[in-house]
Amino acid sequence: MDKIHYLDNAATTKLYPELIDTLKKYYLDVFANPSSLHKAGLDAEKAVSNSRKLVASLINADEKQIVFTSGASEANNLVIANAAFRRIEPVMISSKIEHSSVKKTLNFYVSSHLYFLENDNNGIIIDDFDDMEIDAANLITIIMVNNEIGTIQNIKELIKKARKKGFKGLFHTDATQALGKIPIDVKELDCDFLTASAHKFRGPKGVGFLYCKDLSKLKALTIGGNQENGRRAGTENVAGICAMAKALSKSCRDMEDNYNMVLGYKKKIQDYVKSSEYFDLTIDENVNQSPYILSISSNLAPSEVMLHAYAERGVYISSGSACNSNNPSVSSVLDAIGKAPLPNTAVLRVSFSSDTTEEDIDAFIFASEKLIERFKK
Ligand code: PMP
Repeated sequence: MDKIHYLDNAATTKLYPELIDTLKKYYLDVFANPSSLHKAGLDAEKAVSNSRKLVASLINADEKQIVFTSGASEANNLVIANAAFRRIEPVMISSKIEHSSVKKTLNFYVSSHLYFLENDNNGIIIDDFDDMEIDAANLITIIMVNNEIGTIQNIKELIKKARKKGFKGLFHTDATQALGKIPIDVKELDCDFLTASAHKFRGPKGVGFLYCKDLSKLKALTIGGNQENGRRAGTENVAGICAMAKALSKSCRDMEDNYNMVLGYKKKIQDYVKSSEYFDLTIDENVNQSPYILSISSNLAPSEVMLHAYAERGVYISSGSACNSNNPSVSSVLDAIGKAPLPNTAVLRVSFSSDTTEEDIDAFIFASEKLIERFKK
């Protein structure tokens, strides 16, 4: 096998190659601790501050509203733990299709007053916040783009609807699979918190941020130094933060072109799937969804067997969330939309990035044909 066709970009993306120079600069030249008072420290501090301004401007926020974190899992934990610590009996509302860093954190902190909104079989939330303690809830957290099936929620409308029903708490959205791919304006959304992670938009791993509308609503969980306005102690990941800001800037600048390119790729595979008796689309193609994520089912073999068979042909895809890959047979998202794979069938996630090429798409289709030949017997 010679060439790799990487189609698992919802798990992580390849760094923009030019960011190697940025990482190098902040590890080898401007490497001082941003809290140090000498000139080298001030230079590092300036780099972090400029990156904060850049990240903020790209989502229409104020620089003071950006808290840099180690990624999306930490940002999600920070929001949920904060909301939990504010009340003796926290009341929280979420969906059944959240990433594990939201789902498990809610289960960890909230005991009895945890409510899940109903969704349809495409993953769109259809609940009107009825039959739940909406006026007593202190946090609502809803994923913007689902990482397994790509469904996009109308977060703005959900916030409006919740407020209309008497919600007075804080609204958080996990925008990890959305940022840099679809336009995000936090003022227009009117959310209180928004989570993002650099490695999903071709930045480095281990860095992300939390947008926080009102910093007085957030207390540090990592306690120590006064970094991040006292909201997260620990020496800043200067190189990661600077590279993330640049990655987001490039992703936002090229957003429309990248969107149209990957949409073409997604449509090509969707058309192939529709023409095949061995594959099916997991969600309706007319549903509002990210062009970067495509979920398909197959009646050829179980997911793990299919994944290995594709990998043998150099095509790397996944069966769902990489964060649950130690237990791939259980996807709460697929369960929640009533599409959990039956025995001997598969649900596969094919996900794209600005680095994906037409050749990768053709390789996936070619490999699919070979898998049909192999498994249909
Ligand atoms: N939320 C969503 C929707 C994700 O897709 C991911 C990554 N799979 C995360 C959170 C966790 O991101 P990180 O790796 O930055 O902790």
